[in-house]
Amino acid sequence: MNDLFSKLENHFDEMVEIRRHFHKYPELSFEEVKTPHYIANYHTKLGLDVQTKVGGRGVVATLKGAHPGPTVALRADFDALPIEDGKDVAYRSTVPGVMHACGHDGHTATLLVLAKVLSSQKESIHGTIKFFHQHAEEQAPGGAIAMIDDGCMEGVDVVFGTHLWATEETGKIQYNEGPLMAAADRFEIDIQGKGGHGAQPHDTKDSIVIGSQLVQSLQQIVSRRIDPLDPAVVSIGSFEAKNAFNVIADSAKLIGTVRTFDEKVQEKIQEEIKAITEGTALSTGADISYRYKKGYPALINHKTEAQLVAEKLASVDGVKEVEHAKPQMGGEDFSYYLHHAKGAFFFTGAKHPDTVNPYPHHHPKFDFDERAMVIAAKSLATLAFHYVGEKSNAVNV
Ligand code: MN
Repeated sequence: MNDLFSKLENHFDEMVEIRRHFHKYPELSFEEVKTPHYIANYHTKLGLDVQTKVGGRGVVATLKGAHPGPTVALRADFDALPIEDGKDVAYRSTVPGVMHACGHDGHTATLLVLAKVLSSQKESIHGTIKFFHQHAEEQAPGGAIAMIDDGCMEGVDVVFGTHLWATEETGKIQYNEGPLMAAADRFEIDIQGKGGHGAQPHDTKDSIVIGSQLVQSLQQIVSRRIDPLDPAVVSIGSFEAKNAFNVIADSAKLIGTVRTFDEKVQEKIQEEIKAITEGTALSTGADISYRYKKGYPALINHKTEAQLVAEKLASVDGVKEVEHAKPQMGGEDFSYYLHHAKGAFFFTGAKHPDTVNPYPHHHPKFDFDERAMVIAAKSLATLAFHYVGEKSNAVNV
């Protein structure tokens, strides 16, 4: 592995160059054109077998080793977010209102350079490595499910992925055996009351008061209906009802998210939302309708592969600490791949040593320590070689 590690080190500048290119030219989920084109071109030049438009906009590059063996898939996402880049750096986004504010540019650069280095040493590969470049991670239904429906997981024995994590120190790896990220659902509630004069409330059905009542009631689902030992979140992110100061709002709309790890808890919350909206409609006389849309399922790592992350990555050059992480309430569509093969997802710390309070993911000033890309590449390579390395054929995948 040392030879491979030093090759990856030698390609650090290229990794940075590629990452900054994507950072300058970000593309939104389901609108990616230039990014997958760049990726496909890069892999084609390496001589890999390249499939484009996988599930719509995904790219799968296949590296066949010189010897037979299992198939390992490594995944990186490549979409950006509808955020205006607030950084003052040379590689700032050139696209108004669009920014790589989650580090997917870094994921892509990591995987491309890893493919380059690995393609130069096919002799040492006993099996196949597939590079999954996935579009649209940020927006449900996401790119993963479409790529899987298009067959990308056929023949894959094990799958790994990582997320650069800018709020954890570079050199830290975080993993969990089991749940790592939550199921992320969305709901909308439309309230149709009866507008009127602000001075004559008794002749109206005040949509703002009814909406406020709903917000309060919805907050009691987690605090009073769900077992405190089952993690769950119900958050209202949007409450719209517009009018003049002396007019009672005719209608209002609430939009929120539900985060859970357990399907039973997820079902229970849906039932509670239904009961609350029906009950409130009855007591207020307003017309209240709701829609509940399931997003990505919870990301549940497979135990053996998560343990492998802990065991193997501790000795990777540049890794200072492998930490057992608490699951996060954020969503991630890597979860779908884990329904089709064994595997694990982990976080690669990417907090710059000079940064005291890093901006979080999805912030207009988000950035990460680019050195972490090399650590991510070495980590993914180490996991892949556990299966396709020379002495790996005893490994049961
Ligand atoms: Mn992300």
